[in-house]
Amino acid sequence: MTIFERLESEVRGYCRSWPAVFDTARGAEMYDEHGRRYLDFFAGAGVLNYGHNHPVLQRAAADYLLGDRVVHSLDMMTVAKRRFLQRLDELVLRPRGLDYKVQFPGPTGTNAVEAALKLARKVTGRPHIASFTNAFHGMTLGSLACTGDEGKRAGAGVALPNTVRLPFCGAVGDSVDTVDYFESMLRNGGSGVETPAAVIVETIQAEGGVNVASLDWLRRLRVLTRDHGILLIVDDIQVGCGRTGPFFSFEHADIDPDIVCLSKSLSGLGLPLALVLFRRELDVWSPGEHNGTFRGHNPAFVTATAALETFWTDAALSADVARKGRIARERLLSIAQSYPARCGDVRGRGLIQGMQCAPGVAGRTAKAAFERGLVIETAGPEGDVLKLLPPLTIPDAQLTEGLDIIEDSLRSALARPIRRPAARTTDALVGDAA
Ligand code: PLP
Repeated sequence: MTIFERLESEVRGYCRSWPAVFDTARGAEMYDEHGRRYLDFFAGAGVLNYGHNHPVLQRAAADYLLGDRVVHSLDMMTVAKRRFLQRLDELVLRPRGLDYKVQFPGPTGTNAVEAALKLARKVTGRPHIASFTNAFHGMTLGSLACTGDEGKRAGAGVALPNTVRLPFCGAVGDSVDTVDYFESMLRNGGSGVETPAAVIVETIQAEGGVNVASLDWLRRLRVLTRDHGILLIVDDIQVGCGRTGPFFSFEHADIDPDIVCLSKSLSGLGLPLALVLFRRELDVWSPGEHNGTFRGHNPAFVTATAALETFWTDAALSADVARKGRIARERLLSIAQSYPARCGDVRGRGLIQGMQCAPGVAGRTAKAAFERGLVIETAGPEGDVLKLLPPLTIPDAQLTEGLDIIEDSLRSALARPIRRPAARTTDALVGDAA
């Protein structure tokens, strides 16, 4: 029995899907302790958009740490924080005409979501938050209440109140427009649906199965929420920081959310850092009202600043993500066409792409891929979507290599009879949310 099995809680998930002891990593490649190479099409569930150990970011962190600079400072002012705020303003907010204030919550995604929900309730005085089927917003109770997955929700052990569940774009078939449905519920005095404080939405539900909201749907959601005085929160934690091409995923729809949550790839190097952006007039917090020990962490500010300076001074990365996204999508479409009975919809934007598979197929394919040296997960409530999330900086040759492995793995997975997983405990673990 390994120390992991003997000492680490049964709650561990990804290590069961990928049973290697990893040691070093660079770009889109990881190596285990025996020197075996793996291609990474998982990228830390969206944390490593710029790859593992990008040399510029790594150097910035090393210099900072070895220079006796302030590492921990709660929310005190530091040179590192000032530089980050200046660059965020110059390179991200002002060029996009976004007049947001910035709040640093605790360092993880769910910390950003909790702060956003709390702020929306405080601003509007309303208790309810509307969220969507198959949404994933994190594991703390407020975020979990907005999350769809029944297994994750069951883990709460308490009621998850003060939320309203809405069908996501396309969730009840093409014939039902779910924004219209929401509007009719709001207008119907007998619907039992109270006007919520906010709607929280992912433009692409990454954990939920790579479900892509149409740009028209997002625009109309923006109009509806504005018309009803409901705040629109975009959770860009997994698909922000360039994953779909532009810095924010909602730029495709040209909408201006009231509140935005970011984390994961923000620091660039994989150091925990989260922030909440909101319209200036929503800043009704009183000093210290929402606090936390690790609000903004200086080494993460330093690497986040280096990431902005390296990747976001021009549109080159966005264009490259669009180009590589097309390569991935076209290849997945061609693979899906080869197995029409077992593979269906290919969907995504930029470098998040998913392929819907028949029950059990995606899990088996991900397992076979791991045996062939590719780390890839599945998504969706049944784990039936193969989800591609490579670093945005992946060289073309490695992208093609990974796609070749997927095709080979699918072929081998289909060569044996597929058993549908009995419960979300085995195959579906490849795809457990971060
Ligand atoms: N929101 C989204 C869209 C996510 O994908 C995740 C994590 O996967 C979270 C929130 C929660 O982030 P964290 O796991 O850092 O708390």
